[in-house]
Amino acid sequence: MSLKFWKNASLFAASLALTLTFAVGASAQDKIRTVIIDGQNNHNWKETTPYLVKILEDAKMFDVDVATAPGKGGDMSKFNVDFSKYDLVVMNYNGDRWNPQMDKAFVEFVKNGGGFLSYHAGNNAFANWPAFNEMIALGGWEGRNENSGPYLYLDNDGNVVIDAVEPGPGGDHGPQWAFPIDNRAPEHPIMKGLPKTFRHCEDELYQRMRGPAHNVEVLMTAFAPADKRGLNRHEPLLITVPYGKGRCVNYMLGHAGKQCESVSFIVLFQRCAEWAATGAVTQEVPADFPGADEPTFRDLL
Ligand code: ZN
Repeated sequence: MSLKFWKNASLFAASLALTLTFAVGASAQDKIRTVIIDGQNNHNWKETTPYLVKILEDAKMFDVDVATAPGKGGDMSKFNVDFSKYDLVVMNYNGDRWNPQMDKAFVEFVKNGGGFLSYHAGNNAFANWPAFNEMIALGGWEGRNENSGPYLYLDNDGNVVIDAVEPGPGGDHGPQWAFPIDNRAPEHPIMKGLPKTFRHCEDELYQRMRGPAHNVEVLMTAFAPADKRGLNRHEPLLITVPYGKGRCVNYMLGHAGKQCESVSFIVLFQRCAEWAATGAVTQEVPADFPGADEPTFRDLL
């Protein structure tokens, strides 16, 4: 056998491998162009952003950039994200207000059909920015109170309660525990095919969330019992909100890296991201998705 043959054979193998790679994943131009914004947070964004990147890349349909803002008190005038380059913005940011130009560009991006996924404490950000609060619909902390809008939760019959009367702070949680999550919208693309109840890992169960609460669809809740410092009601953990032509998703789980390895977190994050960007979910429910009794985990990083 000639040397030339082997050279050609290895070239052929290389091109075959390339073809197979493209056949499995979406081609670069079809991928959902995504930017994760971080740089300030009362949470460890330096730990969690790499998990979020890995989770999105594992879904093989996202092209992921990270835009890191200056630290707290830094010069925000120089921090600008070119939203025209993206289909999806992921909020892993809770800190100083962006500059007015970036605020405006972000609102236009979502209004014109961009996808927005607020992750965990992303919904703590910008308590005094009305447009942002319309997009997340429910927020917590950072001075939120009855002036921020009603509380929203589900009663024991599964009815959504919008309580505009009760005064008090927005945002609270008890100790972390591994709570069961109830699928409240089994026909919604994000939730379709997922079990009626599934177990998340030890995490914070946000409660007393409040905000403008317009046009909210509740996809997931968990019951927060009094012995976990809860209010004996079903708290929303995943909601969707239309804003102009855009789709906003407020996904409240995933306190730190450990929580990002819970399969329920991973799968919901991937599905929320695809839906926010496209309005559809094409991803299959994986075999390791948890049932009602035990959380499941993947070793990501
Ligand atoms: Zn947290």
